[in-house]
Amino acid sequence: MTGAAPEMKLHVLSTGVMETDLTWLLLKGGRTIRDRHHKDDPVVWGDCPTHAVLIEHPEGRVLWDTGVPRDWEERWAPTGFHDFFPVKEPVDGPGYLDSSLASLELTPDDVDILVLSHLHFDHAANARDFMNGRTRIIANDKEVEGASKIQGYSQGAHIVSDYQGLPIETVSGDVEILPGISVIETPGHTWGTMSLRVDLPQEGTKIFTSDAVYLRDSWGPPAVGAAIVWNNLAWLESVEKLRGIAEETGAEVIFGHDGEQAKQLRYAPDGEYR
Ligand SMILES: [Zn+2]
Repeated sequence: MTGAAPEMKLHVLSTGVMETDLTWLLLKGGRTIRDRHHKDDPVVWGDCPTHAVLIEHPEGRVLWDTGVPRDWEERWAPTGFHDFFPVKEPVDGPGYLDSSLASLELTPDDVDILVLSHLHFDHAANARDFMNGRTRIIANDKEVEGASKIQGYSQGAHIVSDYQGLPIETVSGDVEILPGISVIETPGHTWGTMSLRVDLPQEGTKIFTSDAVYLRDSWGPPAVGAAIVWNNLAWLESVEKLRGIAEETGAEVIFGHDGEQAKQLRYAPDGEYR
């Protein structure tokens, strides 16, 4: 994509911080694969923040992902994940998607296009709030196909009630959603995990990897895998695909659940990217 980027403004929204055994996210660095000198090291729990991205574009308002639900404890209990990824209650300021949107004086009805990176419980959980008859909801076709075959309450981190019956428009491959805003097909974490590319007029390209890459430490090089990956080879290919785009564009890469990087992000309502 070349040419002048359209005027737009991007906000990162805080949508809930989970805590977890970081072994879920990264298999290295003394977290799981330890040498004999570290065999008695304690398990390391840390923050696993989630975010959404809101883009004010001349052709519409785009939201990327929806974070964790307020009723996470009840909703996740049948999966067992409530004990592995408990959500920290926000102490002050915006914490969940609704309050983060409200901090910008917005509600789900103000969103023209919702793009879901994938349908896991910490990304698609609040998508039903956008069944308002006007918000378009977009996800990857392979993700929707895979998720639609799940029987019962859940499978892995897919909870059927998060997405069943949503009027999802599917996309395949790398697709421009609006001028300067594209999804990149990056499977591996799930069947159809997507990343988001935004070509900002002043600050250049930003890539939001969602769970295609959890952490800066996963990015490498070399890329380092994690405990929750549907297809390791596809995952690795996706990381290298993103690396290629990042190198070509000089993009800043924002990872899906990086607690350290999250401290540097500019959150709504005060923070923005242009
Ligand atoms: Zn996630």
